[in-house]
Amino acid sequence: MRLGTAEIFYDKFGYAPEITGFAPGRVNLIGEHTDYNGGRVFPCALDLGIEGSACRRSDRKLRFYSADFNGAGVVELSLDSGLGGGWTDYPLSVFKAFAAMGYRADQGADFVFKGSLPHGSGLSSSAALEVLTGLLISRLCGFSVSAQELAVFGQFAENRFIGVNCGIMDQFASAVGKKGCAVLLDSLTLGYSYARVADDDTALVIVNSGVKHSLASSAYNDRRRECETALAQINGVYKATSLCSLSTEEFERYSYAVTDPVCRRRAKHAVYENSRVAAAAKALENGNLERFGELMKESHLSLKNDYEVSCAELDFLASLAWELPGVYGARMTGGGFGGCTVNLMKKESLGSFAETVKKEYKTRFGREAEIYAANIGDGARILPKE
Ligand code: ADP
Ligand code: MG
Repeated sequence: MRLGTAEIFYDKFGYAPEITGFAPGRVNLIGEHTDYNGGRVFPCALDLGIEGSACRRSDRKLRFYSADFNGAGVVELSLDSGLGGGWTDYPLSVFKAFAAMGYRADQGADFVFKGSLPHGSGLSSSAALEVLTGLLISRLCGFSVSAQELAVFGQFAENRFIGVNCGIMDQFASAVGKKGCAVLLDSLTLGYSYARVADDDTALVIVNSGVKHSLASSAYNDRRRECETALAQINGVYKATSLCSLSTEEFERYSYAVTDPVCRRRAKHAVYENSRVAAAAKALENGNLERFGELMKESHLSLKNDYEVSCAELDFLASLAWELPGVYGARMTGGGFGGCTVNLMKKESLGSFAETVKKEYKTRFGREAEIYAANIGDGARILPKE
């Protein structure tokens, strides 16, 4: 379904765009906070995401408009501007990331964006915007950049310029996602394979707690530092390239070297979560959704107790889902401190699940839980002209 950015572009700028593209958000099935610890992740691209239309200019100006931030109006910057604190920092950072990687645009462009994803809900609207901007820049400027590079440049933009030390998962899922499939990604080598998730009797359901993870970036950066400390101390007694290069047995043998119990728990989560991803991929391959569901529950408990990135709302939604009929498993998804849970269930149970979750969540927290039956879509792409 088109979001109509070409029409909005014409309306805002008075001429037609050259190209229109789309990049999806993502939901991660399992493997949380492993991607910056050299581990595996298992995300799916959604059919929700951000559409953007763009046209190259002959000067160095950049003009941006987002239908979702229309209060900001058209924001006029240039290739030489510094970051200003608003949403345009994301696309501007992608220009800067491209330049840092040797792809320097010498002419500006006009852009219009419109999204179908909730922002700040852990479905990675920021990664979708970065990957989409990268795709549009590469087409406008004739840079030959692979899908993997789009992901890497997007992550670089978010790390270096936005200041969130995220791993590669979100941008990667947005760039290479495939309809009906999860992406099993090794974040160290960037090797990946697809695993079919959808069958006619199963539903992947996202429940948005409505809690924005707006304060999460400093906590996120703290977790990264704690993991680095744990790795450095383990390296004092045993050589490991990353926390996730350790097996659970190796971790149990050498974790005594980590002096701070908090850092030790963070490392434990990373190591065990990484091994859960491998087990989950196997379970999916064998069609064992019950096992997959158990691993989702273990993942949630580890994120809650050892990594400490959950919150009361996510814990409530996950524990409620574990008790409901037809649910294989449920867990918080994304960086944490708010955002969404992901639930794997029998399709026939979706109606009663949605009704119970909405009612119980409203009673407990006085707010609405938004529920989406997620369609797993393709990765970033240029859309054909209408
Ligand atoms: P998440 O990635 O989980 O959705 P973030 O806080 O990382 O949350 O990113 C959300 C930010 O990304 C928004 O505050 C905004 O700056 C930018 N963004 C997301 N979607 C859009 C959009 N459709 N138009 C403009 N900016 C957007
Ligand atoms: Mg984000």
